[in-house]
Amino acid sequence: MKSENRKVLLVGTGLVGMSYAYSLLNQGACDELVLVDIDRKRAEGEAMDLNHGLAFSPSHMKIRAGCYDDCGDADIVTISAGVAQKPGEPRMELLQRNTGVFKSIIEPVLASGFSGILLVATNPVDIMTHVALTLSGFNRRRVIGTGTSLDTARLRYMLGKYFLVDPRNIHAYVMGEHGDSEFVPWSQAFFATTPVMRLCEKSGVKGMCDGMFAIADEVRNAAQKIIEAKKATYYGIGMALVRITKAIFGNESSVLTVSALLDGEYGRHNVYAGVPCIVNRKGIDRILTLSLTPGERAQLDHSCDLLEEAYAGIRLK
Ligand code: NAD
Repeated sequence: MKSENRKVLLVGTGLVGMSYAYSLLNQGACDELVLVDIDRKRAEGEAMDLNHGLAFSPSHMKIRAGCYDDCGDADIVTISAGVAQKPGEPRMELLQRNTGVFKSIIEPVLASGFSGILLVATNPVDIMTHVALTLSGFNRRRVIGTGTSLDTARLRYMLGKYFLVDPRNIHAYVMGEHGDSEFVPWSQAFFATTPVMRLCEKSGVKGMCDGMFAIADEVRNAAQKIIEAKKATYYGIGMALVRITKAIFGNESSVLTVSALLDGEYGRHNVYAGVPCIVNRKGIDRILTLSLTPGERAQLDHSCDLLEEAYAGIRLK
């Protein structure tokens, strides 16, 4: 970090971006927030709206609409800009269009002399984070995707409800792609210090394990369910972005399932996937390698294969 002034520049002031901005303000998670969007008027309107809430907020954040020159002394550039999928548009075409959006963002960010951390939320997040890494040429530590952080929060919430315990006392992760091939390594899931598998087995309740396994599907389908009900998801991801931002500014070394570039971890190379990582002021300080069972390893491999294939199909030039 360059100074005591914790500065975030947010690109993309849509639903996700502004849920992030609103949570940053309410949690006093940075000192300066600059809003950038291709629709400059929208960014200006959002800055005005947030500023009018300052009198009710616990923080003294400086908030304004700006431009890419403002990245020069920013600590974090968060990207939630993207184009929506057109009806019937193949996934690869959407990816290609979002790659174009990222080129138009990352080139001016680099030109500003930015030397901080890139934090990506745009979907498909693992692939777009890989695109951001390649376009920026940064060290892999400095390019972070939200990965399965939101899915992990959903899992902990649902397991908390299942076991009637505070989700903060559930230690479990969703890993792999933020999407259909994500999975829960149940061998690594704990209720306080007890493995949840043992808890189910010892409970003597018929179907206890199956009920728990069904939660993984609920987590996987959660976004779709929310989209059917209200067209988009944004509060949860906004708060996940703030959690990562706080881990960076607070130099917390917290374990978060962000999207990270694997470089030999879990036997995989050159693929971004959601894995538990230590996050602090350096960005991704290190990737934790959990003792997955052979079945869980195969699930991670499958997810990584799909991500590799999708990334390989993008034209970056
Ligand atoms: P949105 O349409 O509300 O906002 C997108 C914003 O990006 C708009 O304000 C638009 O003007 C801006 N934009 C488009 N092209 C731009 C460019 N070239 N430069 C600057 N700004 C540009 O969409 P949203 O609901 O906020 O979603 C944003 C992204 O977040 C999507 O890709 C969505 O799929 C993703 N998302 C990710 C997660 C996750 O877990 N990672 C969860 C929910 C949504």
